[in-house]
Amino acid sequence: MISITKIFGFEAAHAISNHPGKCRNVHGHSYALHVTISSDQLNEQEMIMDFHDLKVMVKEHVVGRLDHALILSRKGELAEEFANHTGKLTWLDREPTAECMLSLIVEWISPVLPESITLERLQLWETTTSYAQWDRDQAH
Ligand SMILES: [Zn+2]
Repeated sequence: MISITKIFGFEAAHAISNHPGKCRNVHGHSYALHVTISSDQLNEQEMIMDFHDLKVMVKEHVVGRLDHALILSRKGELAEEFANHTGKLTWLDREPTAECMLSLIVEWISPVLPESITLERLQLWETTTSYAQWDRDQAH
């Protein structure tokens, strides 16, 4: 199987409200998102998908919603404090850990992929040494 991967960067702030340590404070990351897709067949240009088309799609449906946003759990202890926040805020049903953000990104990308394309893997890097990974094979 051949797959292709495109890497995206975005800046965002979050807080893990039930974290026992410093991660409960609002803080930022320069996230890197690695998006890997595959297909049984190549298109007319002998590609799985044009990297440009993948870029446009992921920027519209994922990066645009998260870049320079504050990402919080609507059930977390900061929900009330930021309820009237007028800046860019993305609410999650769960804590905005890299793991939970991956689940959300899968929900955002899967419906907009062309039928012949399969989302194989996502990696969300919070730092240069820490990332969470989602794989289609292990998805449930
Ligand atoms: Zn963090």
